[in-house]
Order: sequence, then C-alpha cells, then structure tokens
Amino acid sequence: MEYMSTGMIRPIDKMGRVVIPKEMREYLGITDDGDRFEITLKGNAIILRKFQPTCIFCGRLADSIEYNNIIVCKDCVDKLREVKEQNPGV
Ligand SMILES: [Zn+2]
Repeated sequence: MEYMSTGMIRPIDKMGRVVIPKEMREYLGITDDGDRFEITLKGNAIILRKFQPTCIFCGRLADSIEYNNIIVCKDCVDKLREVKEQNPGV
C-alpha cells in the first residue's frame, strides 16, 4: 500500500466524526450518500476503504446476498446448499 501525504488537516468533533475532504472523495469516486466504508487499523493509521460487498468465500462482487453482515455470492450459496445436502445431519 502506498501512502501519499496531502497536507490536509481536519478536526474531529465530539461524536468522533471527521469530514473527508471533498477533493479526496471526488478523487476516489466516493459520491453516493449511502456509501459505506471498511475501517482498518494499521499501526497508528486508520484506513478507510470504500466498502465493496465481496463474497466471504471467493471474493467475487457479482450476485451477492448479505446474511448477518456476511456477504456470500450466489455460486457459493449453491455450493453450500450442495454440502448441506451431502451432510443432512449437520
Ligand atoms: Zn463466492
């Protein structure tokens, strides 16, 4: 991962909110009101990454469903169904 200092400094409010500079949001294509972020800690850095719902098993984006905050694609749901059929006692 490559880091690029922007020199931008923003305050944090009492609720822990920080405004991501508009220029940075536009640069990364973050434009939708409901966009969600994956928040990761790396050393003393907080990394915000635009959340993209990928399948927990295969990493694909397409045709996915969300169950208990876990994303699974249609193909993996089908494979799980086959495993369940082969192991009816589970
Ligand atoms: Zn999958």
